Amino acid sequence: MSQVQSRYRRVLDRVARAERAAGRAAGSVRLIAVSKRHPAGQVRQLAALGQRHFGESYVQEALDKLAQLQDLPLTWHFIGPIQSNKTRAIATHFHWVHSVDRLKIAIRLSEQRPEAAGPLQVLLQVNLSGEPQKAGVAPDQVLPLAQAVNRLPRLHLQGLMTLPRKGDDPMPVFGALARLGEEIGAVLERPLRLSMGMSGDLEQAIAAGAHWVRVGEDIFGPRG
Ligand SMILES: *Cc1c(COP(=O)(O)O)cnc(C)c1O
Repeated sequence: MSQVQSRYRRVLDRVARAERAAGRAAGSVRLIAVSKRHPAGQVRQLAALGQRHFGESYVQEALDKLAQLQDLPLTWHFIGPIQSNKTRAIATHFHWVHSVDRLKIAIRLSEQRPEAAGPLQVLLQVNLSGEPQKAGVAPDQVLPLAQAVNRLPRLHLQGLMTLPRKGDDPMPVFGALARLGEEIGAVLERPLRLSMGMSGDLEQAIAAGAHWVRVGEDIFGPRG
């Protein structure tokens, strides 16, 4: 087994242990392997072990990689900042987008999603760190954005995502996202899923109710 494959196995074990520790069903948490800044060959090695969900943050890099991996049945999640001029590429090539944080971008993604592809699965990125310049919608603006996105024909609103500030205790942030998910799910009358937790804090995120965890370094190693 290669190094990336054995690291991947260890992360799967961590996810399974965290599910048990939190009293959650086995397999209730989905792992997104964040392959940004790592080559297609490493994605292929994980696909050989059954990993299907991969995350990318940079559009051009992702398009090159996806082209090399077209023969595999993978599901691609876009998790990076979204520029207006990149929405068409994202809407065309990705299955999920975790980083929608304004209506203008959501409208473009909906308009540009190819008819044949089925709805684009989206999550709203929430800024819970209180840094105004950071990506993500402010907590008090999540409900109106969720209601507007919910009405767009080519998008399917799946949940909420957050990215705690490096160095902060992530637990209050994860708890706040979980509460927001409950509140908004109650208004929309359907459950919303949470995308939270990375290499350093996936156990805490799972304890707080994460459905998706997004893990890069602990699988692929440091990014150059
Ligand atoms: C890079 C990235 C990750 C993965 O982070 P690691 O610390 O490498 O596990 C997760 N989420 C987002 C939004 C990212 O940009």
